[in-house]
Amino acid sequence: MLAEGGAVPQLVRHGDIDWHIHAVSPDAPLDTRILVETAMAMIDVIRADEMSRFSVCADADCDGVVLDLSRNRSRKFCSTACGNRSAVAAYRSRQRESVN
Ligand SMILES: [Zn+2]
Ligand SMILES: [Zn+2]
Repeated sequence: MLAEGGAVPQLVRHGDIDWHIHAVSPDAPLDTRILVETAMAMIDVIRADEMSRFSVCADADCDGVVLDLSRNRSRKFCSTACGNRSAVAAYRSRQRESVN
């Protein structure tokens, strides 16, 4: 991803922000900047040995990626929409069970 985006990491300091890395020119197209910034973020995740924070959405019909930054690592769904849909489905199936 870094090679594809033509990343050239540079150590910079500007404004109130202390030394950090810019891997892509601010003039680069938005999709290139997103590609390179995502790759840079993935480097941090892998180096910090935090890959376990990534999973696939627990909703049966969704294969979205879940990034769990919560302290107790309780996040199961990629979005509130998926969480709500699953809660409704679970409620309905409980209702069906209590009727039968
Ligand atoms: Zn900066
Ligand atoms: Zn989802």
